[in-house]
Amino acid sequence: MKVNKNYVNLQESYLFAAIGKKVREYAAANPDKTVIRMGIGDVTRPLAPAVISAMQKAVAEMGVAETFRGYSDDYGYDFLRGTISDYYNKKGAEISAAEVFVSDGAKCDVANILDIFASGSTVLVPNPVYPVYVDTNIMAGNKIIYAPGNEENNFLPMPDENVQADIIYICSPNNPTGAVYSAEQLKKWVDYAIDQNAVILCDSAYEAFVRGDLPTSIFQIEGAKKCAIEFGSLSKTAGFTGTRCAYTIVPAELERDGMNLNKMWSRRQSTKYNWLPYIIQRGAEAAFLPEGFAQGKANIDYYMKNAETISTALSELGIWFSGGKNAPYVWLKCPGGLKSWEFFDILLEKANVVGTPGAGFGSQGEGFFRLSAFASNENTILAMERVKPVIESLR
Ligand SMILES: *Cc1c(COP(=O)(O)O)cnc(C)c1O
Repeated sequence: MKVNKNYVNLQESYLFAAIGKKVREYAAANPDKTVIRMGIGDVTRPLAPAVISAMQKAVAEMGVAETFRGYSDDYGYDFLRGTISDYYNKKGAEISAAEVFVSDGAKCDVANILDIFASGSTVLVPNPVYPVYVDTNIMAGNKIIYAPGNEENNFLPMPDENVQADIIYICSPNNPTGAVYSAEQLKKWVDYAIDQNAVILCDSAYEAFVRGDLPTSIFQIEGAKKCAIEFGSLSKTAGFTGTRCAYTIVPAELERDGMNLNKMWSRRQSTKYNWLPYIIQRGAEAAFLPEGFAQGKANIDYYMKNAETISTALSELGIWFSGGKNAPYVWLKCPGGLKSWEFFDILLEKANVVGTPGAGFGSQGEGFFRLSAFASNENTILAMERVKPVIESLR
Protein backbone atom coordinates (compact mmCIF):
# COMPACT_ATOMS: atom_id res chain seq x y z
CA MET A 1 0.00 0.00 0.00
CA LYS A 2 1.01 3.60 -0.49
CA VAL A 3 0.29 6.66 1.65
CA ASN A 4 -0.02 10.29 0.61
CA LYS A 5 3.66 11.20 0.64
CA ASN A 6 2.84 14.90 0.27
CA TYR A 7 2.47 14.85 4.05
CA VAL A 8 6.27 14.45 4.29
CA ASN A 9 6.54 17.99 2.93
CA LEU A 10 4.50 19.54 5.76
CA GLN A 11 6.34 21.54 8.36
CA GLU A 12 5.66 20.81 12.01
CA SER A 13 2.87 23.19 13.12
CA TYR A 14 4.59 24.39 16.24
CA LEU A 15 3.57 28.08 16.46
CA PHE A 16 0.76 27.95 19.01
CA ALA A 17 2.27 24.93 20.79
CA ALA A 18 5.55 26.82 21.22
CA ILE A 19 3.73 29.92 22.49
CA GLY A 20 1.70 27.82 24.94
CA LYS A 21 4.84 26.13 26.28
CA LYS A 22 6.70 29.41 26.82
CA VAL A 23 3.71 30.98 28.58
CA ARG A 24 3.18 27.95 30.85
CA GLU A 25 6.84 27.88 31.82
CA TYR A 26 6.88 31.60 32.53
CA ALA A 27 3.67 31.44 34.59
CA ALA A 28 4.97 28.48 36.62
CA ALA A 29 8.23 30.30 37.42
CA ASN A 30 6.44 33.59 38.20
CA PRO A 31 3.22 32.74 40.04
CA ASP A 32 2.83 36.34 41.26
CA LYS A 33 2.55 37.74 37.71
CA THR A 34 -0.69 38.02 35.70
CA VAL A 35 -0.12 37.27 32.05
CA ILE A 36 -2.42 38.98 29.52
CA ARG A 37 -3.07 36.96 26.36
CA MET A 38 -3.30 38.94 23.15
CA GLY A 39 -2.07 36.15 20.93
CA ILE A 40 -5.36 34.36 20.54
CA GLY A 41 -7.34 34.33 17.31
CA ASP A 42 -10.51 33.25 19.09
CA VAL A 43 -13.53 35.30 20.14
CA THR A 44 -14.43 35.79 23.82
CA ARG A 45 -17.82 37.55 23.88
CA PRO A 46 -20.92 35.34 24.39
CA LEU A 47 -23.42 34.59 21.62
CA ALA A 48 -26.12 37.19 20.97
CA PRO A 49 -29.33 36.69 23.02
CA ALA A 50 -31.38 36.52 19.76
CA VAL A 51 -29.17 33.66 18.55
CA ILE A 52 -29.59 31.80 21.82
CA SER A 53 -33.39 32.12 21.79
CA ALA A 54 -33.60 30.98 18.15
CA MET A 55 -31.56 27.89 19.04
CA GLN A 56 -33.69 27.21 22.15
CA LYS A 57 -36.84 27.40 20.04
CA ALA A 58 -35.28 25.00 17.53
CA VAL A 59 -34.34 22.57 20.31
CA ALA A 60 -37.98 22.53 21.46
CA GLU A 61 -39.15 21.89 17.86
CA MET A 62 -36.86 18.86 17.67
CA GLY A 63 -38.71 17.29 20.62
CA VAL A 64 -42.13 17.38 18.94
CA ALA A 65 -43.10 14.90 16.18
CA GLU A 66 -44.79 17.55 14.00
CA THR A 67 -41.77 19.87 13.94
CA PHE A 68 -38.95 17.33 14.26
CA ARG A 69 -36.31 17.50 11.49
CA GLY A 70 -33.95 14.79 10.29
CA TYR A 71 -31.33 15.36 7.62
CA SER A 72 -30.94 18.97 6.56
CA ASP A 73 -31.99 20.09 3.09
CA ASP A 74 -29.06 19.82 0.69
CA TYR A 75 -26.59 22.74 0.84
CA GLY A 76 -28.31 24.08 4.00
CA TYR A 77 -31.94 25.05 4.72
CA ASP A 78 -33.51 27.53 2.32
CA PHE A 79 -34.27 29.90 5.20
CA LEU A 80 -30.55 30.27 5.95
CA ARG A 81 -29.30 30.32 2.36
CA GLY A 82 -31.95 32.95 1.59
CA THR A 83 -30.97 35.08 4.58
CA ILE A 84 -27.30 34.99 3.55
CA SER A 85 -28.24 35.84 -0.03
CA ASP A 86 -30.27 38.86 1.26
CA TYR A 87 -27.26 39.95 3.35
CA TYR A 88 -25.08 40.02 0.22
CA ASN A 89 -27.70 41.68 -1.97
CA LYS A 90 -28.03 44.46 0.60
CA LYS A 91 -24.36 45.23 0.26
CA GLY A 92 -24.49 45.35 -3.51
CA ALA A 93 -23.22 41.85 -4.24
CA GLU A 94 -25.80 39.99 -6.33
CA ILE A 95 -25.79 36.49 -4.86
CA SER A 96 -28.70 34.07 -5.14
CA ALA A 97 -29.55 31.45 -2.51
CA ALA A 98 -28.51 28.75 -5.02
CA GLU A 99 -24.97 30.13 -4.94
CA VAL A 100 -24.71 29.82 -1.13
CA PHE A 101 -23.49 26.55 0.43
CA VAL A 102 -23.78 26.34 4.21
CA SER A 103 -21.13 24.42 6.15
CA ASP A 104 -19.52 23.91 9.53
CA GLY A 105 -16.43 26.00 8.85
CA ALA A 106 -14.55 28.22 6.47
CA LYS A 107 -11.38 26.36 7.43
CA CYS A 108 -12.71 23.05 6.10
CA ASP A 109 -14.30 24.64 3.02
CA VAL A 110 -11.06 26.42 2.12
CA ALA A 111 -9.35 23.02 2.35
CA ASN A 112 -12.10 20.92 0.73
CA ILE A 113 -12.53 23.21 -2.27
CA LEU A 114 -9.22 21.82 -3.56
CA ASP A 115 -11.16 18.61 -4.39
CA ILE A 116 -12.62 20.34 -7.46
CA PHE A 117 -9.24 21.49 -8.82
CA ALA A 118 -6.56 19.36 -10.42
CA SER A 119 -3.75 18.18 -8.18
CA GLY A 120 -0.50 19.79 -9.27
CA SER A 121 -2.12 23.22 -9.77
CA THR A 122 0.04 26.30 -9.25
CA VAL A 123 -1.23 28.23 -6.28
CA LEU A 124 -0.40 31.84 -5.41
CA VAL A 125 -0.49 32.47 -1.67
CA PRO A 126 0.29 35.72 0.15
CA ASN A 127 3.19 35.71 2.61
CA PRO A 128 2.63 36.14 5.58
CA VAL A 129 -0.51 34.01 5.57
CA TYR A 130 -3.12 31.99 7.49
CA PRO A 131 -1.19 28.66 7.57
CA VAL A 132 -4.21 26.58 6.45
CA TYR A 133 -3.85 27.72 2.80
CA VAL A 134 -0.26 26.49 2.63
CA ASP A 135 -0.68 23.17 4.43
CA THR A 136 -3.81 22.11 2.52
CA ASN A 137 -2.09 22.75 -0.80
CA ILE A 138 0.95 20.77 0.28
CA MET A 139 -1.36 17.88 1.21
CA ALA A 140 -3.03 18.13 -2.20
CA GLY A 141 0.30 18.03 -4.02
CA ASN A 142 0.00 21.52 -5.46
CA LYS A 143 2.83 23.87 -6.36
CA ILE A 144 2.90 26.90 -4.05
CA ILE A 145 4.32 30.27 -5.05
CA TYR A 146 4.22 33.35 -2.84
CA ALA A 147 3.09 36.96 -3.20
CA PRO A 148 5.29 38.81 -0.72
CA GLY A 149 3.71 41.31 1.67
CA ASN A 150 5.97 43.93 3.23
CA GLU A 151 6.09 47.42 4.74
CA GLU A 152 6.31 49.00 1.25
CA ASN A 153 3.05 47.46 -0.02
CA ASN A 154 1.41 47.70 3.43
CA PHE A 155 1.18 43.89 3.42
CA LEU A 156 -1.24 44.08 0.46
CA PRO A 157 0.63 42.30 -2.36
CA MET A 158 -0.61 43.13 -5.86
CA PRO A 159 -0.62 40.92 -8.99
CA ASP A 160 2.63 40.49 -10.89
CA GLU A 161 2.05 40.11 -14.66
CA ASN A 162 5.07 37.80 -14.92
CA VAL A 163 3.68 35.29 -12.45
CA GLN A 164 1.32 32.55 -13.67
CA ALA A 165 -1.12 30.93 -11.27
CA ASP A 166 -4.16 28.64 -11.45
CA ILE A 167 -5.49 29.42 -7.97
CA ILE A 168 -5.04 32.70 -6.08
CA TYR A 169 -5.69 33.13 -2.34
CA ILE A 170 -6.89 36.47 -1.00
CA CYS A 171 -7.72 37.13 2.65
CA SER A 172 -9.21 40.57 3.26
CA PRO A 173 -9.42 41.82 6.00
CA ASN A 174 -6.27 39.81 6.53
CA ASN A 175 -5.23 37.45 9.25
CA PRO A 176 -2.49 38.06 10.47
CA THR A 177 -1.81 41.58 9.11
CA GLY A 178 -5.25 43.21 9.52
CA ALA A 179 -4.70 44.84 6.10
CA VAL A 180 -7.74 45.36 3.83
CA TYR A 181 -7.77 45.67 0.03
CA SER A 182 -9.53 48.68 -1.51
CA ALA A 183 -12.07 48.16 -4.33
CA GLU A 184 -9.46 49.38 -6.86
CA GLN A 185 -6.91 46.85 -5.62
CA LEU A 186 -9.42 43.98 -5.66
CA LYS A 187 -10.41 44.97 -9.21
CA LYS A 188 -6.76 44.50 -10.26
CA TRP A 189 -6.80 40.99 -8.80
CA VAL A 190 -10.09 40.21 -10.55
CA ASP A 191 -8.75 41.46 -13.90
CA TYR A 192 -5.54 39.49 -13.41
CA ALA A 193 -7.44 36.29 -12.55
CA ILE A 194 -9.70 36.61 -15.61
CA ASP A 195 -6.68 37.33 -17.79
CA GLN A 196 -4.87 34.25 -16.45
CA ASN A 197 -7.97 32.03 -16.47
CA ALA A 198 -7.30 31.54 -12.74
CA VAL A 199 -9.75 31.24 -9.84
CA ILE A 200 -9.55 33.50 -6.77
CA LEU A 201 -10.33 31.88 -3.42
CA CYS A 202 -11.35 34.84 -1.28
CA ASP A 203 -11.48 34.39 2.50
CA SER A 204 -13.74 37.06 3.97
CA ALA A 205 -13.98 35.66 7.53
CA TYR A 206 -13.39 39.18 8.92
CA GLU A 207 -15.71 41.14 6.60
CA ALA A 208 -17.93 42.22 9.51
CA PHE A 209 -15.03 44.21 10.98
CA VAL A 210 -14.80 46.55 8.00
CA ARG A 211 -15.81 50.15 8.73
CA GLY A 212 -16.25 52.84 6.13
CA ASP A 213 -16.56 52.04 2.45
CA LEU A 214 -13.91 49.38 1.86
CA PRO A 215 -15.24 46.23 0.15
CA THR A 216 -16.63 43.47 2.37
CA SER A 217 -17.09 40.95 -0.46
CA ILE A 218 -15.17 40.31 -3.66
CA PHE A 219 -18.57 40.08 -5.36
CA GLN A 220 -18.94 43.85 -4.93
CA ILE A 221 -16.25 44.02 -7.63
CA GLU A 222 -17.30 43.91 -11.29
CA GLY A 223 -16.27 40.67 -12.99
CA ALA A 224 -15.71 38.72 -9.75
CA LYS A 225 -18.50 36.26 -10.51
CA LYS A 226 -16.45 35.12 -13.50
CA CYS A 227 -13.38 34.26 -11.44
CA ALA A 228 -13.97 34.03 -7.68
CA ILE A 229 -15.24 31.80 -4.89
CA GLU A 230 -15.78 33.43 -1.48
CA PHE A 231 -15.66 31.92 2.01
CA GLY A 232 -17.65 33.55 4.80
CA SER A 233 -17.90 32.48 8.41
CA LEU A 234 -19.97 33.31 11.47
CA SER A 235 -16.97 32.44 13.66
CA LYS A 236 -15.64 35.96 14.11
CA THR A 237 -18.77 37.75 12.80
CA ALA A 238 -21.16 36.30 15.37
CA GLY A 239 -18.99 34.43 17.90
CA PHE A 240 -19.62 30.99 16.33
CA THR A 241 -16.09 29.57 16.72
CA GLY A 242 -17.45 26.88 19.06
CA THR A 243 -20.99 26.73 17.65
CA ARG A 244 -19.80 26.39 14.00
CA CYS A 245 -21.40 27.84 10.89
CA ALA A 246 -19.84 29.12 7.69
CA TYR A 247 -20.77 29.38 4.04
CA THR A 248 -19.13 29.26 0.64
CA ILE A 249 -20.36 31.25 -2.34
CA VAL A 250 -19.75 29.69 -5.76
CA PRO A 251 -21.23 31.78 -8.60
CA ALA A 252 -23.61 29.88 -10.89
CA GLU A 253 -21.77 31.21 -13.95
CA LEU A 254 -18.25 30.25 -12.80
CA GLU A 255 -16.79 27.84 -15.35
CA ARG A 256 -13.32 26.52 -16.06
CA ASP A 257 -12.02 23.81 -18.33
CA GLY A 258 -15.54 23.12 -19.68
CA MET A 259 -16.92 22.46 -16.20
CA ASN A 260 -19.30 24.44 -13.98
CA LEU A 261 -17.68 24.96 -10.56
CA ASN A 262 -21.00 25.57 -8.76
CA LYS A 263 -22.23 22.15 -9.99
CA MET A 264 -18.93 20.51 -9.06
CA TRP A 265 -19.03 21.95 -5.51
CA SER A 266 -22.71 20.90 -5.18
CA ARG A 267 -21.73 17.37 -6.16
CA ARG A 268 -18.68 17.32 -3.91
CA GLN A 269 -20.60 18.56 -0.86
CA SER A 270 -23.69 16.38 -1.30
CA THR A 271 -21.43 13.34 -1.71
CA LYS A 272 -19.08 13.95 1.21
CA TYR A 273 -21.03 16.11 3.66
CA ASN A 274 -24.40 16.16 5.44
CA TRP A 275 -24.75 19.82 6.46
CA LEU A 276 -25.26 21.49 9.80
CA PRO A 277 -27.73 20.70 12.60
CA TYR A 278 -31.15 22.40 12.22
CA ILE A 279 -30.63 24.03 15.63
CA ILE A 280 -27.40 25.71 14.52
CA GLN A 281 -28.85 26.82 11.18
CA ARG A 282 -31.70 28.55 13.05
CA GLY A 283 -29.15 30.25 15.33
CA ALA A 284 -27.14 31.36 12.29
CA GLU A 285 -30.27 32.74 10.61
CA ALA A 286 -30.97 34.81 13.74
CA ALA A 287 -27.43 36.23 13.58
CA PHE A 288 -28.27 37.79 10.19
CA LEU A 289 -31.75 39.10 11.13
CA PRO A 290 -31.97 42.68 12.47
CA GLU A 291 -32.07 41.97 16.23
CA GLY A 292 -29.29 39.38 16.26
CA PHE A 293 -27.24 41.35 13.77
CA ALA A 294 -27.32 44.47 15.99
CA GLN A 295 -26.32 42.39 19.02
CA GLY A 296 -23.46 40.79 17.08
CA LYS A 297 -22.31 44.19 15.89
CA ALA A 298 -22.14 45.39 19.51
CA ASN A 299 -19.66 42.57 20.20
CA ILE A 300 -17.59 43.57 17.18
CA ASP A 301 -17.62 47.18 18.38
CA TYR A 302 -16.37 45.90 21.73
CA TYR A 303 -13.39 44.21 20.05
CA MET A 304 -12.75 47.23 17.86
CA LYS A 305 -12.38 49.37 20.99
CA ASN A 306 -9.42 47.13 21.83
CA ALA A 307 -8.02 47.49 18.33
CA GLU A 308 -8.18 51.25 18.83
CA THR A 309 -6.48 51.06 22.25
CA ILE A 310 -3.63 49.08 20.68
CA SER A 311 -3.36 51.30 17.57
CA THR A 312 -3.38 54.52 19.58
CA ALA A 313 -0.58 53.29 21.85
CA LEU A 314 1.56 52.21 18.88
CA SER A 315 0.96 55.50 17.03
CA GLU A 316 2.08 57.43 20.10
CA LEU A 317 5.22 55.31 20.19
CA GLY A 318 5.87 55.89 16.49
CA ILE A 319 5.80 52.15 15.76
CA TRP A 320 4.88 51.06 12.21
CA PHE A 321 1.80 48.84 12.04
CA SER A 322 -1.00 47.71 9.74
CA GLY A 323 -4.54 46.68 10.69
CA GLY A 324 -6.47 47.72 13.77
CA LYS A 325 -8.99 49.82 11.83
CA ASN A 326 -11.02 47.25 9.91
CA ALA A 327 -9.80 44.05 11.51
CA PRO A 328 -9.34 42.61 14.99
CA TYR A 329 -5.58 42.31 14.44
CA VAL A 330 -2.74 44.79 14.73
CA TRP A 331 0.44 43.80 12.91
CA LEU A 332 3.42 45.75 14.16
CA LYS A 333 7.07 46.07 13.30
CA CYS A 334 9.20 44.86 16.20
CA PRO A 335 11.08 47.76 17.81
CA GLY A 336 14.86 48.03 17.65
CA GLY A 337 15.13 45.65 14.70
CA LEU A 338 14.26 42.69 16.91
CA LYS A 339 13.21 39.36 15.44
CA SER A 340 9.67 38.15 16.09
CA TRP A 341 10.56 35.56 18.74
CA GLU A 342 13.06 37.88 20.47
CA PHE A 343 10.32 40.49 20.85
CA PHE A 344 7.90 37.77 22.03
CA ASP A 345 10.28 36.76 24.86
CA ILE A 346 10.91 40.35 25.95
CA LEU A 347 7.20 41.22 25.94
CA LEU A 348 6.35 38.11 27.95
CA GLU A 349 9.07 38.73 30.55
CA LYS A 350 8.96 42.51 30.89
CA ALA A 351 5.28 43.27 30.19
CA ASN A 352 3.68 39.87 30.88
CA VAL A 353 1.85 40.23 27.58
CA VAL A 354 1.52 37.42 25.04
CA GLY A 355 1.32 38.12 21.31
CA THR A 356 2.00 36.04 18.21
CA PRO A 357 5.41 36.15 16.49
CA GLY A 358 4.97 37.18 12.85
CA ALA A 359 7.59 34.65 11.69
CA GLY A 360 5.03 31.93 12.47
CA PHE A 361 2.94 33.12 9.49
CA GLY A 362 5.68 32.89 6.88
CA SER A 363 9.15 34.22 6.07
CA GLN A 364 7.83 37.73 5.33
CA GLY A 365 6.48 37.88 8.88
CA GLU A 366 9.97 37.84 10.42
CA GLY A 367 10.55 41.05 12.40
CA PHE A 368 6.79 41.57 12.83
CA PHE A 369 4.32 40.73 15.57
CA ARG A 370 0.54 40.23 15.82
CA LEU A 371 -1.59 41.55 18.67
CA SER A 372 -5.24 40.51 18.70
CA ALA A 373 -8.21 42.56 19.88
CA PHE A 374 -10.10 39.65 21.45
CA ALA A 375 -9.09 40.21 25.10
CA SER A 376 -11.32 42.23 27.48
CA ASN A 377 -11.33 46.05 27.28
CA GLU A 378 -9.79 46.27 30.77
CA ASN A 379 -6.98 43.81 30.02
CA THR A 380 -6.18 45.46 26.70
CA ILE A 381 -5.79 48.87 28.35
CA LEU A 382 -3.64 47.32 31.09
CA ALA A 383 -1.57 45.40 28.53
CA MET A 384 -0.77 48.51 26.49
CA GLU A 385 0.20 50.41 29.66
CA ARG A 386 2.72 47.66 30.32
CA VAL A 387 3.86 47.39 26.69
CA LYS A 388 4.56 51.12 26.22
CA PRO A 389 7.59 51.48 28.55
CA VAL A 390 9.02 48.20 27.25
CA ILE A 391 8.87 49.39 23.63
CA GLU A 392 10.29 52.79 24.67
CA SER A 393 13.26 51.05 26.28
CA LEU A 394 13.96 49.10 23.10
CA ARG A 395 14.17 51.94 20.60
C1 LIG B 1 -10.92 32.38 11.98
C2 LIG B 1 -10.68 32.30 10.53
C3 LIG B 1 -11.56 31.61 9.69
C4 LIG B 1 -12.82 30.96 10.24
O1 LIG B 1 -12.76 29.60 10.14
P1 LIG B 1 -13.96 28.71 10.69
O2 LIG B 1 -13.56 27.34 10.31
O3 LIG B 1 -15.19 29.17 9.98
O4 LIG B 1 -14.03 28.91 12.17
C5 LIG B 1 -11.31 31.57 8.34
N1 LIG B 1 -10.23 32.18 7.82
C6 LIG B 1 -9.37 32.87 8.59
C7 LIG B 1 -8.21 33.55 7.95
C8 LIG B 1 -9.55 32.94 9.97
O5 LIG B 1 -8.68 33.60 10.73
